[in-house]
Amino acid sequence: MNLVFATHNSNKLSEIQALMPNTIILKSLSDINCNEDIIEDAKTIAGNAMLKAKYVKENYTYDCFADDTGLEIEALNGEPGIYSARYAGEQRNSKDNMNKVLEKLKGKKNRNAKFKTVIALILNEKEYTFEGICKGTIIEEPRGDRGFGYDPIFQPEGYGQTFAEFSMELKGKISHRGKAVEKLLNFLHSI
Ligand code: IMP
Repeated sequence: MNLVFATHNSNKLSEIQALMPNTIILKSLSDINCNEDIIEDAKTIAGNAMLKAKYVKENYTYDCFADDTGLEIEALNGEPGIYSARYAGEQRNSKDNMNKVLEKLKGKKNRNAKFKTVIALILNEKEYTFEGICKGTIIEEPRGDRGFGYDPIFQPEGYGQTFAEFSMELKGKISHRGKAVEKLLNFLHSI
């Protein structure tokens, strides 16, 4: 089955591709020549995911799924949330974003956080959403050089390493995105 995954991010594409069965052929936005920016101006993570999937369906006719992820930090009232990519500004720089988080958490005891991913799927004219959550804590100093985004400061519950110290395979098994993808895959197998 051909399915578009609405992303240009090669990290995300390879993470999800590693979890997909061979029967599903994933196409990226670049594969279908969708090179324009899709404006993500919804108020929620789920809203932004559906907005992207709808854009591809309406403009390129492919069935499609899109994901949207946010890091929600308890002591910051759920920030950065939908602003995760551009928390420290439009330059969308991961180091700047992490520094802003670490700065805001200085002196705070509660460092609980969670990553939330929502995958929105449009298939045969119907809409579906799948959510994955990974709970953890924000550590004091970045550690590790794998992964992307906030991985060096996020330590998932039950582990002594940050996501940036995980292999891609292990991260895919326990991560927010991995869990949402698992739900998507279970659904695709069930139809
Ligand atoms: P997106 O919706 O997947 O593009 O994610 C929005 C932002 O959240 C990214 O730009 C990253 O800063 C952050 N993010 C998303 N997924 C992850 C992850 O797995 N690890 C660390 N940061 C992530």
